[in-house]
Amino acid sequence: MGFLVRYNIAGVLLAMLSAMPASADNHPLPDDEPMLSDAEFSACQARFENQARQKGISEDVIAQAINGLSISQRVLELDRKQPEFTSSFASYLNKRVTDARVAQGRALLQQHHKLLNKVSKDYGVPPSYLVSFWGMETNFGSYLGKMSILDSLATLGCDKRRSQFFTTELMNALTLLDEGVVGVEGFRGSWAGAMGNMQFMPSAYLKHAVDYDGDGKRDLWNSLDDAMGSAGNFLKNLGWQKGERWGREVRLGKNFDYLSANLKNRKPLSEWAALGVKQANGLPLPDADMEAAILVPSGHNGPAFLVYQNFDVIMRWNRSESYAIAVGYFANRIAGMGKLLQSPVEAPRLNRQQVMQLQEQLKAGGYLEDDPDGILGPNTRLGISRFQAAKGMIADGFPDEEVLTQLSIVSTD
Ligand code: CA
Repeated sequence: MGFLVRYNIAGVLLAMLSAMPASADNHPLPDDEPMLSDAEFSACQARFENQARQKGISEDVIAQAINGLSISQRVLELDRKQPEFTSSFASYLNKRVTDARVAQGRALLQQHHKLLNKVSKDYGVPPSYLVSFWGMETNFGSYLGKMSILDSLATLGCDKRRSQFFTTELMNALTLLDEGVVGVEGFRGSWAGAMGNMQFMPSAYLKHAVDYDGDGKRDLWNSLDDAMGSAGNFLKNLGWQKGERWGREVRLGKNFDYLSANLKNRKPLSEWAALGVKQANGLPLPDADMEAAILVPSGHNGPAFLVYQNFDVIMRWNRSESYAIAVGYFANRIAGMGKLLQSPVEAPRLNRQQVMQLQEQLKAGGYLEDDPDGILGPNTRLGISRFQAAKGMIADGFPDEEVLTQLSIVSTD
């Protein structure tokens, strides 16, 4: 689903690791793949113009928006750029949830409490989460992105890799222009087309943005009321459960079966409690009729999390487990809660080539079905877990030194 695709400006490269569109081809193109030529782009422009006309976009907007389009080689470069190293959960979280940003989030929570409480009442999403998303997406509105949305979407829509997805987003962007939300000049955002304080893609903007300050325009750039109201509405539409949290840090029992720690394995809280799972402070889990999964993003020596239905909602906003944990934890901190009791553990540094080798070895041993792609995602972690289980190690799916040594992978550190 298109509107699920989110590109976080602050963490574009990391988001690419785990949050590419469902339709995306995650594999990098060979270096000699030609970028777009002017002739190809002109042909695309003609195609866009026809499609816009068929969609009923006004001739005014077509003339202004389509005629002025130009290829952005910068967007193509960014789209093709693959991170050289995998980023660990520890470094991801530590970069985003810093003491300074928590303090800033708390101050903004106070400053905007009236607006945030109103949004919370209307849509069921607590103020601290709204501020957390704001911080994660644009560093609290301090960086909204300066690229031309139209050029970015047209370039990616013309590029064959994800043409259909971005062409649809371009048409949605034209519809927004037609609506008069913003002029062509002010239509700016991330290189991948995300806009405003909450970095909405055009499809999400069209479908979920609201005019919360009542001035007749849905302005996610300049109106914080509109941005917060729209985020609340978007989350509500994605299935936000009012009165429930995202998840919590937990303590696992001594003989916990780490193979059961993955997002797909949901159990009632009572079952997890029976398996020895407790709150991080040692108290029993709440006696609530809820299902949850357990995640150990930096292995058995790092923190463990019990994640509820709202965790899935956050992942519908951005399909990355690290992002979703960061949003939830950041919201908790902004709301006044303390730090994690167990700190995330740094992973050995692996580049893409080393991840490929790891995957090839796992596949050769029958632990991994997928073809190697150099990206350390949930399937690779599952493969590592199977390998660990077969070798009598703790099967937490974390590529620590022991795993790498046994597979003869030399880490870069
Ligand atoms: Ca408005």
